[in-house]
Amino acid sequence: QLIMGIETSCDETAVAIIKNGREIAANVVASQIESHKRFGGVVPEIASRHHVEQITIVLEEALNQANISYEDLSAIAVTEGPGLVGALLVGVNAAKAVAFAHGIPLVGVHHIAGHIYANRLVTEMTFPLLSLVVSGGHTELVYMKEHGHFEVIGETRDDAAGEAYDKVARTLNLPYPGGPHIDRLAQEGEPSISLPRAWLEEGSYDFSFSGLKSAVINTVHNAEQRGEKIKPEDLAASFQQSVIDVLVTKTSKAAKEYNIKQVLLAGGVAANKGLRKALQEEFTKLPECELVIPPLSLCTDNAAMIAAAGSVLFEKGIQSTMALNANPGLDITIHN
Ligand code: ATP
Ligand code: MG
Ligand code: FE
Repeated sequence: QLIMGIETSCDETAVAIIKNGREIAANVVASQIESHKRFGGVVPEIASRHHVEQITIVLEEALNQANISYEDLSAIAVTEGPGLVGALLVGVNAAKAVAFAHGIPLVGVHHIAGHIYANRLVTEMTFPLLSLVVSGGHTELVYMKEHGHFEVIGETRDDAAGEAYDKVARTLNLPYPGGPHIDRLAQEGEPSISLPRAWLEEGSYDFSFSGLKSAVINTVHNAEQRGEKIKPEDLAASFQQSVIDVLVTKTSKAAKEYNIKQVLLAGGVAANKGLRKALQEEFTKLPECELVIPPLSLCTDNAAMIAAAGSVLFEKGIQSTMALNANPGLDITIHN
């Protein structure tokens, strides 16, 4: 079985080909970060235009890497949402064109299901499982009792973790995307600055990062006004510690409450060194629950994860029709 994945939901034009649901035969990612950097974030119109320019080149390169032609494909999986509508449309239409021209089945995939299924490229999934999804637009705890079943037991009420990282980085004048820069700085500093942790109501698995973000901004401004100097590495370390404390504590608590067999880390912020280490430490205390952390290249946006999710859906007999459309607000709980 050879599945092609296509991902264009944000600022990566990505095409991958995976064999038998698990083995990566090609994984091509064309990033647009350089074009968006000077705006300090992704500009939707520029993103769409880059996808249009890149998509056929990236498709060709993936076929070359895997040394196959379209006729060899069992199915084409594509991110149908959520994301930027103009960006999603490029991938969806490319997938439909190829599927139609070559008579290949089409499978629409939820972008976050893709992030979760990145883990299937490194391990077999064991249910019931819990995925901690931490990305640029999402922070949620997703419970799965079987393949294709997603239940969100907690989610952010304001900013996503990645969004908070990027905004804090901006306050510290670090380039976009700021997550990796904060991560690097945090390792050189001490978490010596007191910052809030949003635990929310007792028993809630929801998250909130806007208060923390504001506290960081206020700390910087107050110091400036008093003419004091804050060490950016200490601020980065303190911010990161606050984010990690809440993520790790809530994940561990939910894993126990739901009798989880496996915890999967997913999304761009899963690349964070501090978070990876803290989760590993926490889960040594829970030996009955396996913790899976994907390699860095599978944490941020890629198409291998979309192919991995698509492969499972395709095996379950789920296919999309030619009416498949980009859906920027696609809900994971009704997506199968
Ligand atoms: P979504 O998946 O929610 O649609 P997205 O696709 O834009 O959003 P991802 O590509 O999954 O997001 O992740 C990008 C985010 O990950 C950015 O906010 C970036 O700063 C963050 N990130 C990447 N590496 C790290 C790191 N090492 N530490 C913290 N954050 C990181
Ligand atoms: Mg991106
Ligand atoms: Fe993503």
